[in-house]
Amino acid sequence: MSDLNVLLPLQQNWSCHNCGGCCREHEISISDAEKQRIEKQNWTVDHGVPGDRPLIVALGNGWRLNHQDDGACVFLDANGLCRIHAKFGEPAKPLACRLYPYAIHPAANGLTVSLRFSCPSVVSNLGTRVTAQRAELEQLCREVVPTDFRNRDLPVLAGKRSVSWEEFRVLLAFLERGLADRSIAFPQRLLQTLAWTQFLEQADEGLLSGERLPDILTILLEAARRACVEGDYGRQPPSRTGRMMFRQLVAQLLRHDTQQSVSAGLKHRLRMLSSGIRLTFGRGMVPALKDPESVRAAFGESASGPAQSVLFAAVEQFSRELPSEADELFERYFLVKIAGHHFFGRAFYDYSMLDGLRTLALMFPATIWTARLRALQSGRDRLLADDLRAALAILDHNLGYSPALQLRSSRSRIRQLAGLQQIESLCRHYGGE
Ligand code: SF4
Repeated sequence: MSDLNVLLPLQQNWSCHNCGGCCREHEISISDAEKQRIEKQNWTVDHGVPGDRPLIVALGNGWRLNHQDDGACVFLDANGLCRIHAKFGEPAKPLACRLYPYAIHPAANGLTVSLRFSCPSVVSNLGTRVTAQRAELEQLCREVVPTDFRNRDLPVLAGKRSVSWEEFRVLLAFLERGLADRSIAFPQRLLQTLAWTQFLEQADEGLLSGERLPDILTILLEAARRACVEGDYGRQPPSRTGRMMFRQLVAQLLRHDTQQSVSAGLKHRLRMLSSGIRLTFGRGMVPALKDPESVRAAFGESASGPAQSVLFAAVEQFSRELPSEADELFERYFLVKIAGHHFFGRAFYDYSMLDGLRTLALMFPATIWTARLRALQSGRDRLLADDLRAALAILDHNLGYSPALQLRSSRSRIRQLAGLQQIESLCRHYGGE
C-alpha cells in the first residue's frame, strides 16, 4: 500500500497529555498476535502489574487487556503512564491504544482521519498539529485498513438513495463551506446547514446529479439562508415530545459503562435505567451522574459527583448566552467529523448522510444542555468554555460507538425528530438564536 492518500483534519491539534482517561474508560481488544507479544514480554509483579489476576482475559472470540480494581488497565501505572510503552516503547502497545483518539475511515480514493473528542486533549485542541503527524498516521493507516479499502459502497444520501463519490465530494465541500462561514455565528451556520440539506431529501433525484449539482446547491443554500433569517425555520420552541426524545438521546450519550461499572452488576444497571427514565421525563431533579475519569482530570470535578443538585427546570431557564469560544469549538468539532466521514456509513452505524448529519447536529444542543447542567452543579449561572469542552468530551465518547445508538429505535428517533421539525427547533432554542 505505497500510494496512500490520507486526508487529515486541518483545524485540529493533538498530543497525548497522559490523563489516563482512555486507559480507564475503554475496553482494549487485542489480537492473537498482540496477546502472544505481550505474553513474551514476561510481566511479573516486580514490574508493578497486579499479581492477583490474569493480564489478558477472553472477550467474545478474542481477547482484551484486564483491568485493576479501580477500572484502570492492568498496565497503567500510578502516574497515568503505560508500562508497556515505558519498558518497550510505543510500537509495542496494542494497536487500539496506539490508534486512540484517531479514527480512520476508507473513502473513494484514499482514507480520512477523524478524532474522538472524548479525549480531553482533542476537545481542548492541545498539542501538535495533526497535519504535522502525517508520517505516524500513514503508518497507522497501513496497519488498520484492509488491502481492498478502495472497494467501497457508494455513500447513501437518504433512505436507499446513494450518490456518486464525485457528487459526495461536492456535497461535503458545501457542508464544510457553510459550517466554516465565520461571517455568521455558528448556531446560524448549523441552522442553514440543516435547512438546505433538508431540501436534498425532497429534491428530484435527477437534480442532484452531474455537473448541475454545485448550481443547485447554491440555490438551495440561498433558500436556506432566507428561511433561517427572514422565515420561521426552527423558530417554534421544541415541543414536549421533542424535548423528551432529545433528553432520551442525551441520557444515552451520558451513559458511560466501564469495566468497573459493569462489574458492579445489577445495581449499576438498575441505577442507569432509573437515571435514563428520569432524564427522559425531565421532572424534578436531574439524576447525579459522575464525570468520566478523563473529564475529571482535565476539567475538574469531585470524584464523589456533582457538588449541587439541579432541577430540570433550572437547566431550561439557564442563560442562553454562549461563551465566546463556543463557535471555535463547534466549528472544529463539526468540520473534523465531517471531513473525517465520521457521521455516516460504516463509521456510524450505517446511517445515511442525512440521518448522520442530523444526529451530529443534535450534539450541539446536547452539549449545551449538558454544559448548563455542569455549570449549575458547580453553582454558576453562566457557561464557561470548559463547561462546553467537558460536556462535549463526555457526550462524544458514545457517539458512533454506543450499541444503544445502533438500535432501530435510536434511528427512528432521529427520523421522528426530523419529521416533527424538532432538530432545528432544539438547535435554535439551546443555541440562543
Ligand atoms: S484520553 Fe487522550 S490525553 Fe488522556 S491518556 Fe488517552 S489519549 Fe492521552
